[in-house]
Amino acid sequence: VHIADLLRRPAEIIGADSKASHPTIPLPADLYRPQRENSHGIEFGERAALDSLTSAIAAERKAAPGAVDIATAEQASAAVAAARRGFKAWNDMPAARRAAILDKAADLLEQRRAHFIALLQSEGGKTLDDALSEVREATDFCRYYAALGQKLFGEAEAMPGPTGESNVLALRGRGAFVAISPWNFPLAIFLGQVTAALMAGNAVLAKPAEQTPRIAAEAVALLYEAGVPASALHLVQGDGAIGALLVGHPAISGVVFTGSTDVARSINRTLAAKDGPIVPLIAETGGINAMLVDATALPEQVADDVVTSAFRSAGQRCSALRLLFVQDDVADRMIEMIAGAARELKIGDPAEPSTHIGPVIDAEAKQRLDAHIARMKREARVHLAGDAPAGNFVAPHIFELATAGQLTEEVFGPILHVVRYRAERLSEVLAAIEATGFGLTLGIHSRIDDTIEEVIDRLQVGNIYVNRNMIGAVVGVQPFGGSGLSGTGPKAGGPHYLARFTTEQTVTINT
Ligand code: GLU
Repeated sequence: VHIADLLRRPAEIIGADSKASHPTIPLPADLYRPQRENSHGIEFGERAALDSLTSAIAAERKAAPGAVDIATAEQASAAVAAARRGFKAWNDMPAARRAAILDKAADLLEQRRAHFIALLQSEGGKTLDDALSEVREATDFCRYYAALGQKLFGEAEAMPGPTGESNVLALRGRGAFVAISPWNFPLAIFLGQVTAALMAGNAVLAKPAEQTPRIAAEAVALLYEAGVPASALHLVQGDGAIGALLVGHPAISGVVFTGSTDVARSINRTLAAKDGPIVPLIAETGGINAMLVDATALPEQVADDVVTSAFRSAGQRCSALRLLFVQDDVADRMIEMIAGAARELKIGDPAEPSTHIGPVIDAEAKQRLDAHIARMKREARVHLAGDAPAGNFVAPHIFELATAGQLTEEVFGPILHVVRYRAERLSEVLAAIEATGFGLTLGIHSRIDDTIEEVIDRLQVGNIYVNRNMIGAVVGVQPFGGSGLSGTGPKAGGPHYLARFTTEQTVTINT
């Protein structure tokens, strides 16, 4: 199917194509239906329930639990041994039972969403919109992997073969799988990794970000309550050193990691050097994500989508827009509109429902972002530089660069970099995007089909968004993950993800 056709007649073409050449994508609606219809925002119909939800959240906030236990090196090692012991029984359990446990976990998350929203706000600094979306995404992961896993692990697949021989292919768990998750989606990515590894039949060693340990502890308690046996899931709290210890343990069988490119590289080195079986890494890292806006784009929509993509969640999404390329004929007007829309954003207490931008994760993050802002004030043209309240808050900033090459690393906060380009130089813009080496998300705002096609054909980017914002991938709808410096490629919330957590076994019987 051609991109141009997709742009013209979306429903018809996508529907026809998915039936013809991808019979398993998407899962039928009776097996899985995402809760999240869009990336952010309270859905129509939910507004009415908002008052009762916010008072429930306020009540939960008072009951927020206390500190968690940090694992010692001995405890981490003992957890690996226990996971090895727990693996077989869990892997032998029928896939339908494992799926029923994940569905039960989804039910519990829905019942307790006020509690998890309160936790996400107090420990993760999430606004109401972001926290609500995150609980929905976490729930979607549980239900999607449950549905997908039943299809994949239900029965061994018969393979064609000669008469007198039967051949089957089965997918099984690998063993003890280490899951290392980030603080920016402490519930959704934590549970996404853990439930994928569990659904595939693995015992899991979950090492959450040290900044958000309580959310992880509560999520694990919820999985136990849903029916995951304690022998199959082991929570190992701690810093990077504990993560390194788990990764370097000879008895582990796989690693799934979301975080920085540097840490992904160091995990790869550790895996390559250690004794024991050869262990695969599934990594989702960062990006210097770009958006292209040409003169045919609709200015109001661009302003809205840029503000959402660059500044929502305080820019602390790996999908967030960092580098905006605007065609020079319309650049002044576009930048003015974007800055105007960004000035309207309310920064402050994430517990306050009207807040758009909460704090960044900690004082260290704030310092790093402030240093980048100071450098940009010297090296770039300033279009927006607001003040933030005292604390770990960073106001949205917009800087104009002479060339894209001035931005050399992912800046994980509400800071947008703009570069002007001339229409006849589009290929130089694409070369600049390629030169970053990342390939996570990309936005295009254009009404010219040829331009859109050219960009999609040329760039190797995991998630491309045309004429909309570029954050908030929905499970089972926009499978998420990138390539190059952005990761090893398998997409969370996509139909091929679970297979990466397995080992495949072919059995041939002479009959
Ligand atoms: N999946 C998220 C999104 O589409 C981003 C995940 C991340 O930041 O790691 O916005």
